[in-house]
Amino acid sequence: MLTAEVLIFAPIDCSFTYAISDALRGTVQVGSLVNIIVGKSKKMGLVVALNEKNPAALSYTLKPILSTVYDIPITDATLIKLYFWIAKYYLCDLFSVIDAAIPSVIRKNIPFKLVSYLQLTPDSGIVIDEKKLPKQYKAWQFLQQNPFIAKSKFLEKFSRNILEALSRKNVIYETFQRLERIVYGASNLLKKHNENVILTLEQAQIVASIRQSLQGKTFQVYLLHGVTGSGKTEVYIDLICHVLKEGGSVLYLLPELALTAQVVEKLRSRFDGLSVLVWHSGLSDGERRDTWQGALNETSTVIVGARSAIFLPINNLQLIIVDEEHESAYKQSEHPRYHGRDVAIYRAKLQNAVCLLGSATPSIESYFNTKFKNYKLEILSKRIDSHQLPLVHVVDMRYEKNSNIFSRLLIKKMEERLEKKEQIILFLNRRGYATTVLCRCCDFIAICPHCSIPLTYHRTKNLLICHFCAHQEASHFKCPKCGAQEILYNGVGTQRVEQVVGELFPQAHAARIDSDIMGKKYEFIHILSDFRKGKTDILLGTQMIAKGLDFPNVTLVGLLNANGSLNQQDFRANERTFQLLVQVAGRSGRGEIPGEVIIQTHIPGNEIIFLSKSADYVEFFTGELKMRKMFHYPPYRHIINVNLSGENLELVKLFSKDFAQHLVKLFVDEPAEIRGPMVSPLEKLQNRYRYTILIFVQSVGKISEKLQSFRNRLTIPSGIYLSFDVDALDFL
Ligand code: ADP
Ligand code: ZN
Repeated sequence: MLTAEVLIFAPIDCSFTYAISDALRGTVQVGSLVNIIVGKSKKMGLVVALNEKNPAALSYTLKPILSTVYDIPITDATLIKLYFWIAKYYLCDLFSVIDAAIPSVIRKNIPFKLVSYLQLTPDSGIVIDEKKLPKQYKAWQFLQQNPFIAKSKFLEKFSRNILEALSRKNVIYETFQRLERIVYGASNLLKKHNENVILTLEQAQIVASIRQSLQGKTFQVYLLHGVTGSGKTEVYIDLICHVLKEGGSVLYLLPELALTAQVVEKLRSRFDGLSVLVWHSGLSDGERRDTWQGALNETSTVIVGARSAIFLPINNLQLIIVDEEHESAYKQSEHPRYHGRDVAIYRAKLQNAVCLLGSATPSIESYFNTKFKNYKLEILSKRIDSHQLPLVHVVDMRYEKNSNIFSRLLIKKMEERLEKKEQIILFLNRRGYATTVLCRCCDFIAICPHCSIPLTYHRTKNLLICHFCAHQEASHFKCPKCGAQEILYNGVGTQRVEQVVGELFPQAHAARIDSDIMGKKYEFIHILSDFRKGKTDILLGTQMIAKGLDFPNVTLVGLLNANGSLNQQDFRANERTFQLLVQVAGRSGRGEIPGEVIIQTHIPGNEIIFLSKSADYVEFFTGELKMRKMFHYPPYRHIINVNLSGENLELVKLFSKDFAQHLVKLFVDEPAEIRGPMVSPLEKLQNRYRYTILIFVQSVGKISEKLQSFRNRLTIPSGIYLSFDVDALDFL
């Protein structure tokens, strides 16, 4: 008897065995969505394996699969392996993985939207008299030039009466076709692209090297480290072209929705008639379904998408590009807390594909892997056409008036640019919750003596607390370094900046991009498109506009407050700041005219700000790695962030302490370190008190099973919530 192992779309963490009737034999396959009975109710499931079983050996009768949702499988065996790996590595249940991987719209089986087309009847022998029926004649002529045209297009030019007259005469007939929604089809972000880009020598050498791996059809990770504006995208495009010629497919991942539009336009204009599939959270249900269906149908295609595109079924996948690989947006902040880049690497491994990571400011982990693991490093060291990296000015905001958001230098440079009709980007980093403590008179920032990360000021307790080791100290009203009573706490949002820009430059056109704007579908495309056309002079926003975007007329970039990310209570604060500063600066001077960058900060002597001025990644990396090694931080170890929360503070406290003690015992024979429990930086969230335990381990794979089975054995008191975040990127 043929049986199927079925995962159910419900929070049950194991598969069930169902019988496959003779009628469904051949139809039910690995990757099929099926309807089944669980208990007494009808549910949907995913077939993850097929087996032959001897009915006589079974002590019970198996329930049968009722039907399939589609007549073809909607995912494949490799992806199913990937789901299992994610559940294991990220310590989450399988249901949360398939729930994220196979979106509900795919489980709904809604019919495709049909569009009506008009077609000329072949050899109808009918001739329309031009003199007697001039309008019908014109329409007939038009149809001869457009023998297959959407009815709506025809009706834009001719009346319904004419259409009816022609169909009565049997000159035309109507057919229905599935609508291919063209995502971003109407946008106009890029001009027609220069068709014959000739790769530079550096680019060509990199392409040649990666092609070799592609030809060998062996798994390989590459890290393309190229300065901003060095033509990484051209390298991707050339490789895409190569893979398509060979009949393969490419998945092109980007961290930010705003970047997908730019890339899709570029690809569409480069490859005439190529269907580029698009996938991200901003799509409608119908658009998602089309992309999924497209991925299943096409044997050779390009898919551009955000993080979750990693779950699309793709035929002949040979290359996965992870652009801006350092971006934390690749990490999902809810269950399952997977890292899109790392899942991409694992998927490439499963499929013997090449995974190409790209960045001007690689993550410490990826760069480390080029030195100590098998990643291959490729370098683009110069901007295209020898365009210079921009000139960076650091402005010491301690000498500006307290309430000013804009320094005198920035205002002066902005006036110059507006006069010359060049464009400006203003950037404000709003990340981070707590206010940190710094001195207005010297370089002092309050830092933990044990962890080398800044302390956070807790207003309720009036204490400075380390979010890594729970070290506490009294808050300062005097600077401990220089004695001045000039301790500073501050913070400004983008909307306020917009208002001030309006007041300072009433004649200029400014537009804002931040997460408030992203709520409105495609609004950002219009904003970016207007900016590209020069309709807006100033673009301001958050990290969304910090990377990737290519606007040649931007010659000034202002970073309004470069304290924010340095003061984060996180050992990655330096890394984030360096990345941010270099990426933001990278938006300036990408065209013929050299660019300038103004960094406003209260800590101008800071080493990271200094290093980012010259964008010297290798020097930054070397220094940062020393620090990581000293404190045994990633990439030397992995961190699993255990979050425990609940409304009853005493219970959370007690359980956390208990849990930590269990963990210590559990890992007594492992090279693991348990830190905590400590109060989470975000102490209370949605009425729940939060505690954190950090597990430092050499290898996640080696301990995940032990930890998972420990969790499953454990009785968690009701009202307590426990979650794991493997390779956590934030510790809030
Ligand atoms: P990056 O992704 O490294 O920041 P891009 O790929 O966006 O850089 O390239 C920067 C600019 O240089 C783009 O406008 C691109 O079209 C152009 N460019 C890239 N490679 C070449 C080349 N070989 N010849 C001419 N222009 C190029
Ligand atoms: Zn500490």
